[in-house]
Amino acid sequence: MRLADYRPVRKLRLPEHRIERPRFGVVDAHNHLGEVFSYGWSKRPVSELLAELDSVGVETVVDLDGGHGEAFSERHARYAGAHPTRFAHVAQMSYEEWIERPDFGTMEAARFENAVRRGAVGLKAWKPLGLRARDSEGVVVPVDDPRLDPVWATAARTDTVVIVHVADPIAFFDPLDAHNERWEELHEHPDWHFWPPRSEVGEAGFASFDEIIAAFERVVARHPDTTFIGAHVGCASEDLALVSGMLDRNPNLNVDISARISELGRQPYSAREFFLRYSDRILFGTDFGYDAEMYRIFYRFLETFDESFDYDLGEHPLQGRWQIHGIGLPDEVLRKVYSENARRLLLKDR
Ligand SMILES: [Zn+2]
Repeated sequence: MRLADYRPVRKLRLPEHRIERPRFGVVDAHNHLGEVFSYGWSKRPVSELLAELDSVGVETVVDLDGGHGEAFSERHARYAGAHPTRFAHVAQMSYEEWIERPDFGTMEAARFENAVRRGAVGLKAWKPLGLRARDSEGVVVPVDDPRLDPVWATAARTDTVVIVHVADPIAFFDPLDAHNERWEELHEHPDWHFWPPRSEVGEAGFASFDEIIAAFERVVARHPDTTFIGAHVGCASEDLALVSGMLDRNPNLNVDISARISELGRQPYSAREFFLRYSDRILFGTDFGYDAEMYRIFYRFLETFDESFDYDLGEHPLQGRWQIHGIGLPDEVLRKVYSENARRLLLKDR
């Protein structure tokens, strides 16, 4: 047998709690309605999507694929325009255009502001920032490049938010060898491997994980009037002490938990502490489409103390070969994380 075919089945005999519906209504503050990341849902009728969401208590979805301009308006008309309490959309930047636009910062700020007029509740900065997005000199634009300051300032001026995903799992910045805990995932997605490091090969290489996160925090600190949501647990779910430090130093920073119960659930004691301490600043989000069973895994993690269960529906666990443990959050924390924080920070109590 090859290691790749190994599918061990756990033989623990433990209580299992299936959470059909969440204890409180849910805002999924990080998901997608574009073709690539919606897992097929963007092609299905909106009524089917709403029925699936209803079955698992999801009241509102924040779509991060809004784009900008006319494309934004088309997306908005199909979802939020027709169902204003069920959907909201955020705008995106077009990194591929930066290489031809020395004025990319002011251009993106103007587009963002235009998208807000079209109904956007914020802007998503995607991870090419700091890794692959290049300026007209061909140089990778650092996350804290001052040319982007007009973009971050626009969120404060228009009372919207910025959702930032920079860097990626720490193992994506390590050599792809027998010690890499994301080996299978990186083999499936070689473009997620940010190697070799710039410190070894110069401009042809990638900035390090820690450099990118430090630059992100400098942006957050430089724009205290802008509300930032650090996607995927502040982009550093493997290091909750690092994220806690950033939250302590920057009251304008918040985080979502999208695509990271795999990480949170393998450090359940630290994760529970983190949720209790920052209960006003953590937003529920999934990032994985709209399958009811997928949502139920998130609910099981947050609501129960179940031990050693799978964090996704994949044939083998997609983000690494381990299982997770529930953190049994109290009601007052659940209510905030499930919806209140997102309604206050992102949806502005609409
Ligand atoms: Zn996402």
